[in-house]
Formats: sequence, C-alpha cells, structure tokens
Amino acid sequence: MKTNKIDIWDVVIIGGGPAGMMAAGRAAEKGHSVLLLEKNTTLGKKLLLTGGGRCNFTNNKQNIRELALSYKGSDQFLMSAFSQFDVAKTIEFFNTRGMKTKEEAEGRVFPVSDRAQTVLDVMVKYMKAPADAKAMAGKGSGAQIKTNADVVNITFNKENDLFAVQLKNKEVFAARSCVVATGGVSHPETGSTGDGFTWLKKLGHKIVKTDASLVPIAVKDKWIKELSGLTLNDIKLTTYLDGKKEFIQKGPDYVEDPRFHREKILFTHFGISGPTVLNMSKDVGELLYSGEVVIKLDLFPKLDLGTLKNNLQKILVAESNKKIKNTLNALIPLTLVPIILKLTSIDGEISNHSLNHENRMKIVRCMKEISMNVKELMGTDMAIVSSGGVPLEEVNFKTMQSRILPQLFIVGDALNINRPSGGYSLQLCWTTGFVAGDSI
Ligand SMILES: Cc1cc2nc3c(=O)[nH]c(=O)nc-3n(C[C@H](O)[C@H](O)[C@H](O)COP(=O)(O)OP(=O)(O)OC[C@H]3O[C@@H](n4cnc5c(N)ncnc54)[C@H](O)[C@@H]3O)c2cc1C
Repeated sequence: MKTNKIDIWDVVIIGGGPAGMMAAGRAAEKGHSVLLLEKNTTLGKKLLLTGGGRCNFTNNKQNIRELALSYKGSDQFLMSAFSQFDVAKTIEFFNTRGMKTKEEAEGRVFPVSDRAQTVLDVMVKYMKAPADAKAMAGKGSGAQIKTNADVVNITFNKENDLFAVQLKNKEVFAARSCVVATGGVSHPETGSTGDGFTWLKKLGHKIVKTDASLVPIAVKDKWIKELSGLTLNDIKLTTYLDGKKEFIQKGPDYVEDPRFHREKILFTHFGISGPTVLNMSKDVGELLYSGEVVIKLDLFPKLDLGTLKNNLQKILVAESNKKIKNTLNALIPLTLVPIILKLTSIDGEISNHSLNHENRMKIVRCMKEISMNVKELMGTDMAIVSSGGVPLEEVNFKTMQSRILPQLFIVGDALNINRPSGGYSLQLCWTTGFVAGDSI
C-alpha cells in the first residue's frame, strides 16, 4: 500500500467533532505531529446544533463522583478519566481561552454568547495553536486539519507498528497511533454515520448495537403516579420549550381518520408512554438540551373551549345537587377527576349548583391543557444521542486506549455510555478527548 508522501504521523485522529478536536489539540500541545481527518467540509457540524445552537457544553457538577454517577452504569469506568479532566478543568479550559460561561437551570453551562460557534472557535484555535506546544516538546506547531477527508478503512501492521488510514480518494496516511472519534449514529446528516464501528469491528472490537431511541418520557409532576395504568385515546399533546410552542403530536389526522384513534397515551409510575409519546420522544429529548420542556395534554382535541363548556354545563344542570367530585367522571376517566380538581384548586365537595362560572371555566381550560413538566427520557434511561458503541470493558479509561490494540484510542460518542441530557454528552467528549490526547 502506498503511503502519503508527507510523513509518518505520531497520531491520526479521525473525526472533527468535539471529542476528536480535543484529542487533536491536546496531542499537539504535547508536541506530537497530529493529523485530524474530517469527512465534512467543515468541523463540528453536530457541535453547532447542540443546545438549540447555544451549546450546553457541560453540567456544573464539580464533585467527580457525583459527576460519574450521572452516567448510570458507567461511573466506575469514568472515574479515572474524570479525575484527569473534570468539569472545573473544562470550564477553566474555555474561560482561559476567552470564552465567558454562564450556568442555567439544573447546572447546565453555556457560553455567554449563547452561540455554539464560540465553542467551536475555541476548539479550532486550540488545535491550530495549542498554548504550550513549544514549551512541552519543542516541536509542536499545532494539529494539521484536513477536511473533505472521508476515511474508508484503517488497518494496523504489526510488523512495523503502524496504522494505515485510507481515504475514499485512495490517499493513505501512516501513523503510530490512531484516535477514532467518529461519533455515534444520531443525526447522520452531521457526518455521524457509524463508519468508525465498521473499522473497530475489523480491528477486533465488539460493538453494542447502536440505536435511535424511542423511549417513554419521565415527568416531574408527582401526581402523574396516581394515573399509572390509565390509557387515553384521541388526545393531543403540545410541546413547549421555555414557554414557546414547539410542536403538536396527535397522530396523523386524528380527527378525520378513525384508523389513528388507536394512537394513545399511557400513564406510568414515572411519566407517559404509548405510541404517541414514543414517536415524539426523540424531538423532546433534543429540546431538553435547550431548556425546560412542558407537554400539554388536551383531553378533547375535537372540541373547542365553548363546546366543552356547554357539555359540562349540561351535566352540572342535570345533576345539580351532586358534588363536583362525583360528577366529572361523566366526561373524563375517574382517576383523572381528583387530578383535575387538584390542578384547578377546586374543592371536590362543592355541589354542582354552587360551582361558579370562574371555576367551571378553570375545569374546562384544565381539561384542554394539563401541563406535564418533562424530567428526562426513560427507557434506556437516557437521551437520544447515541445508544450503543464500543463496550467500556474494551477501553482503558486511564488513557482511552483500546484494550485490544493499545495504539488505538476511542473517544466521545463512539463509546457505549448512557448519559442524561444537560451537558453530560459534551463533557464526555472533552474528558475522553483530553485524556486520549494526553496519553498518546
Ligand atoms: C440536536 C442535538 C443537540 C445536542 N445538544 C447537546 C448539548 O447541548 N449538550 C451536550 O452535552 N450534548 C448535546 N448533544 C450531543 C453531542 O452533540 C454529542 O455527544 C457530540 O457531538 C459527540 O461528539 P463526538 O466528537 O463524539 O462525535 P460527533 O460530534 O458526531 O463528530 C464525529 C465527527 O466524525 C466525522 N466522521 C464520521 N465518520 C467519518 C469518516 N469516515 N471519515 C472522516 N470523518 C468522519 C463526522 O463527520 C463528525 O464530524 C446534542 C446532539 C444532538 C444531535
């Protein structure tokens, strides 16, 4: 195989996402010759989408153990990596490079600019001119970045201890070490198409099945538990991000087409599930990166407020001496009655004839807009981003080296790590990228 005329690189890094860029910057900072290959024409395409374009780049969990525990089931692996590059170091990394940061709800940290581009700019600058490259080894002059470089294969030659990294255009680069930072499989339009998994398999790694999650949604409101087991058909769910309407989930043409009346919501101990919910979970998961998400449930999507009020009115008049708590089940399932009364702060002991206009309207409005405050996605317990990837047992987290081939390093979304939304995915990239770059 003919190698590229330039050099034998100390390290070739495949993937110009956050993990690959951090690895490249750190390896260059340590004085290595570094080549970063990215198949897109630009770096960090997915990074620019993060946090709704604002980039929730970490979560302010300063305690390493607490931080590691957020990655359920992976904490014991992550401790050694976090002890080398934790949240405090990450924030300091960006601050010292001129990016001011701010903390928002639930510890989510963003650049003050509210622009993911600021984060990308820092990373590109770091790779090109790492701070102490010269001081550390005397030969560092930043990483070389090659975009439009679509890697199609990596092989390792045991005889000369070198990788051959081959591009689609047949160019081949030789390297002593190789970092796979090709991401997972979510949002393939950003370049994360799971290419790395094919080569990693050939090099001897197992790959835990990658999946785009369709998962139940956990809700913060305690009353949700009381509805566990209830299913509702013909409902409408409207999703809001920080108070702004984002999208409506109702199943195609729920009014006109009876086939879709089976589209339903199921209440669980933790939140909501059922086809309608599962289908919207990916979008809800993405919104969770950007702020507070509320889903409003309309129990009567086919009725406007006026019609629903008239329907209620008729029932109240027909049963005027009954208590409201014993009446509403003529309209809605019994288990929902105490919830509606609780949410509207109406005393269920009131007789129907004593229920004033204001309270009647409160009930009607509530039935058309039951607010559920979203906590997180359930199921895999985690966010959509990438489930699956390289099993953690096959990686040494002190260095991010492959346990199968020590000259190989694996970082970022390519690893099979569950994580919640809130900046944890990117923290994983900064940490694993830094540790790999530092260990080469
Ligand atoms: C909509 C959205 C919003 C998000 N918001 C947040 C957030 O606010 N906070 C947070 O912590 N996380 C967020 N995430 C998750 C976060 O973006 C990822 O965890 C992170 O980008 C993973 O980084 P990575 O470097 O491992 O991989 P990626 O960012 O996927 O980068 C991999 C790179 O490798 C390149 N590549 C792939 N194959 C090849 C090949 N054959 N040859 C050359 N190059 C290749 C790709 O083009 C890509 O540029 C969000 C994800 C999405 C989809």
